[in-house]
Amino acid sequence: MNARQAPVFPQWPHYDEAEREGLIRALEQGLWWRMGGDEVNSFEREFAEHHGAEHALAVTNGTHALELALQCMDVGPGTEVIVPAFTFISSSQAAQRLGAVAVPVDVDPDTYCIDVAAAADAITPRTKVIMPVHMAGLMADMDGLAKLSADTGVQILQDAAHAHGAQWQGKRVGELGTVATFSFQNGKLMTAGEGGAVLFPEKEMHERAFLRHSCGRPKNDTRYLHLIAGSNMRLNEFSASVLRAQLSRLDAQIALRDERWALLSRLLAGIDGVVPQGDDPRADRNSHYMAMFRVPGITEERRNALVGRLVEAGLPAFAGFRAIYRTDAFWEIGAPDESLDAVAKRCPNTEAISADCVWLHHRTLLAGEAEMHATAEIIAEAVAAA
Ligand SMILES: *Cc1c(COP(=O)(O)O)cnc(C)c1O
Repeated sequence: MNARQAPVFPQWPHYDEAEREGLIRALEQGLWWRMGGDEVNSFEREFAEHHGAEHALAVTNGTHALELALQCMDVGPGTEVIVPAFTFISSSQAAQRLGAVAVPVDVDPDTYCIDVAAAADAITPRTKVIMPVHMAGLMADMDGLAKLSADTGVQILQDAAHAHGAQWQGKRVGELGTVATFSFQNGKLMTAGEGGAVLFPEKEMHERAFLRHSCGRPKNDTRYLHLIAGSNMRLNEFSASVLRAQLSRLDAQIALRDERWALLSRLLAGIDGVVPQGDDPRADRNSHYMAMFRVPGITEERRNALVGRLVEAGLPAFAGFRAIYRTDAFWEIGAPDESLDAVAKRCPNTEAISADCVWLHHRTLLAGEAEMHATAEIIAEAVAAA
């Protein structure tokens, strides 16, 4: 690589006086857990409103959000949950931790989101939930899934860990009539280092979730009443105060990332051998958690070397997710009664994408136009060399 100046991207996470004031506010409030404090309650209200949902529950992280949501949807031993094979492992692990079987299905080769026909094929009498993941902030086919759900009675749970503020057909995540979960882990689009949330379309499920996330205990209980099974998944006041500040910045950051991705994806599409993640035109607001592209036909080994070259040239680049069924963890508990080869054969797109996909951290898309051009040039050179 020549001696070009490496492009400079904003750091992540971003913070300013709003987070500082929030943390002091939580500190001086004197109550540092949600019981009696104001920060978690306020954050839940604001986050629900922002996503067009009636009810939100803040929790410790996005993995727990999935576990809690699935438990509230009656997932447990003897049930199955259909998940995309190309996702972060929590999507399947959450189901497996509850004693259910996680059934991976293939994804679309263009959007990397769950293939609705493949999900339909995987439904059995034991299937309780289909879990679309809005990959990189690009929403899955929520129309196809809504129809499948109506036809079969199988519930939909949106794993929206990448999709804060995303929209489908003008509808926000909380307006699509399903339970949805979010993550506020350090790299996510809003963060307090760790944290999560669940949106509920109805009050009763929200109330049960509250009990389950607090050891089964009613809000103002002083007599150790534990009404239903649960765990402690409560978010603390400090984290909520930071998340309130982060939420206030979300829309402006989405707008900027959207503008930058329009440019960067156009530049990437012009590079020989590179195909940027495609967008379903019905997904009308992508939150842009990752800037993803494929180098179709490249081997996994060469892709990994390519990522190394991109990092060397100053890009925050990473290899795409490994197919969940190609991890040891997946087969330890709650795997389907199928061989790895049989699953891989059902998931040709996942096989290809997990070998040839590269992603850039979303802070790339918070930089200027010049950085988009520099990024595309670096990628063009590295791909040509690969
Ligand atoms: C980050 C992530 C999660 C888990 O969130 P944590 O807060 O890290 O537990 C779940 N699903 C997907 C798709 C994710 O990217």
